[in-house]
Amino acid sequence: LNQVIWEQVRIKEINSALEQALETRTVVESQMRRPTEGEDLVVNIYVAVLSDSQQKLNGAVIVLNDISKLALLGRVRRYFVANASHELKTPITAIKGLAETIIDDKSIPIDTLRNFIHKISIQSNRLATLITDLLSLSRLESDPQTGNFQVVNFTEVIERSIEGALVNCVDKHLNLLRKYSTTEGLLIKGDVQALSQLVDNLMDNAIKYTSPHGTITVSLISEKESVRFQISDTGIGISQAEQNRVFERFYRVDKARSRELGGTGLGLAIVKNIAQQHGGSVAVQSQLGLGSIFTIHFPLA
Ligand code: ADP
Repeated sequence: LNQVIWEQVRIKEINSALEQALETRTVVESQMRRPTEGEDLVVNIYVAVLSDSQQKLNGAVIVLNDISKLALLGRVRRYFVANASHELKTPITAIKGLAETIIDDKSIPIDTLRNFIHKISIQSNRLATLITDLLSLSRLESDPQTGNFQVVNFTEVIERSIEGALVNCVDKHLNLLRKYSTTEGLLIKGDVQALSQLVDNLMDNAIKYTSPHGTITVSLISEKESVRFQISDTGIGISQAEQNRVFERFYRVDKARSRELGGTGLGLAIVKNIAQQHGGSVAVQSQLGLGSIFTIHFPLA
């Protein structure tokens, strides 16, 4: 075309990489980043000069690589690692402090000692729960395991989870209702352990976030080609703004309250992952102060 490149391309990162490559005759790698309405646009720029057999400069090749998605993933990963480290550090710091006090203070009264050991036990349980949740999440994300799927009686999975949760319901004086569209077991394709974990996590939350004498309703309805599984509660509810975020890893509406109840902030992220692994979808409807409904749709086997 016989035109100079900086008249055609007005992107300073490309022009300066080109200039540098021509000057140094090496491959130059650079990057440009532009804010957009959604995620930033990030492009890797590679410039290599072309020369003939007599080393005479013939031109240059510019390769542009849109790495916006990769850059976003990198940021999500860094954010996750920072969050996970922080979450792990909290109980470890507490255990360390308590243990050191016990070692240093020889005249510690027996009651205080017992209290400290009790606290160490609570914090180590917290640590164990956190690690178990992190491991399940990482297993789910790295290895979808759909090859091991079997036909599962989902009604039975729910019944077993309810049985396990009954003690906590009784302790909190919660009413538990069941609404099944059929007395026959509903069959879906999946992994029993993962499905149990999904039901347990939702059940656990309904119990945790509902005040004594509230009601939890578990329903399982067979639709045309899918199964609708719902757990609704008359608990504290979740504001509209926060409903989109509760499925994020480590997101908690009230950190202190969740911690106090033994929460890790990973329960719903695990639920979402398991649902997706089974070709299902998750949704939440809720009103602050009135309660929440968590709905999962699974394809019928
Ligand atoms: P956590 O371990 O904190 O319970 P989850 O991932 O299970 O973590 O849930 C994320 C957050 O969503 C909770 O901290 C809580 O704020 C909110 N939440 C989950 N389930 C309910 C519910 N049934 N009622 C009210 N809030 C809920």
